[in-house]
Amino acid sequence: MSTLTTPPPQSTPAKPTSPSESCDEIDGYVGLPLGSRIANLVAILTPVVGLIVGIVYFWGNGVSWIQLALMTVMYVITGFGITIGYHRLFTHKSFSAGPVVTMALGILGSMATEGSILRWCAAHRSHHQHSDQEGDPHSPHLHDHGTGLRGIWAGFWHAHIGWIFDAPGEPLDRYVPDLIRDRRIRAISRLFPLWVAIGFVIPAILGGLANILIGEAFWTGAFLGFIWGGLVRIMVVHHITWSVNSVCHIWGSQPYRSADESRNNIFVGIFALGEGWHNNHHAFPTSARHGLEWWQFDSSWITIRTMERLGLVYNVRVPTAERKAAKLRSKGSSAAGGDDLARDAA
Ligand SMILES: [Zn+2]
Ligand SMILES: [Zn+2]
Repeated sequence: MSTLTTPPPQSTPAKPTSPSESCDEIDGYVGLPLGSRIANLVAILTPVVGLIVGIVYFWGNGVSWIQLALMTVMYVITGFGITIGYHRLFTHKSFSAGPVVTMALGILGSMATEGSILRWCAAHRSHHQHSDQEGDPHSPHLHDHGTGLRGIWAGFWHAHIGWIFDAPGEPLDRYVPDLIRDRRIRAISRLFPLWVAIGFVIPAILGGLANILIGEAFWTGAFLGFIWGGLVRIMVVHHITWSVNSVCHIWGSQPYRSADESRNNIFVGIFALGEGWHNNHHAFPTSARHGLEWWQFDSSWITIRTMERLGLVYNVRVPTAERKAAKLRSKGSSAAGGDDLARDAA
């Protein structure tokens, strides 16, 4: 039974297997370069500017169903790119998919503008390996942030956004050697800026075409599509998915033993497309299903299950009832063991 959640450290980093891998992204590196810090700042602040422009325009003109639909649809499909693609497929291998589905999920995840596949997955594997211990890139509990509300806020801020500028960055050849070996994933990761750009072009074109259908100017619709389906959507995706790192390591329930501060939070669970059942996820990292109870709404899991029934994905992994029972805090059992998973027989 293969699990690839927290690859063990390698004393000797693997060498690139082809000349094409010797790009900056794949070389092991330490420290976040100034250029990357600036790029991150632009990626975080520009969507906020987009929201302000959208609100200013809204004030005089209102917002139509076209812009709301573009934002919602783009949010859901690029959000699934992160939750189903980057997280459950590439990082945790919780199911398998053919090349077309794999590449589509990689491209959609890239359009969410949270970094390339390789960098995102390396940071997340490091999070699971260290999980609220020294080395965790975005734990709200590590640094001495002081006490009381001020300390909680400082920890929250670090886990939500601050770590993006503080983190030295994980050596990719240590954390994602399997992904580096896959030439398709390598190519998609390297073309990250292109997918980000396409994430703006698609809603702009659709917004323009929709405007023509209702007898209005193409360019007005294209501009609003760019703002709402591009910038505002990216801001929403950013802050909802980052809430998994911040909110879900501070506030919520802990039904399972997971040796960290991960929590199940119903609000993040719903809005972050199922990712807010984060205590479940830390207890069973390679499970494709995070909302393990029937009432824990997990739209990413529903989508994975639907894709499985359509024959688009396979080897979908979920924990057995016995494993779940063994890891429940209320049972007090110490035989929780690892993350053994079984094929969902249902
Ligand atoms: Zn976590
Ligand atoms: Zn994870």
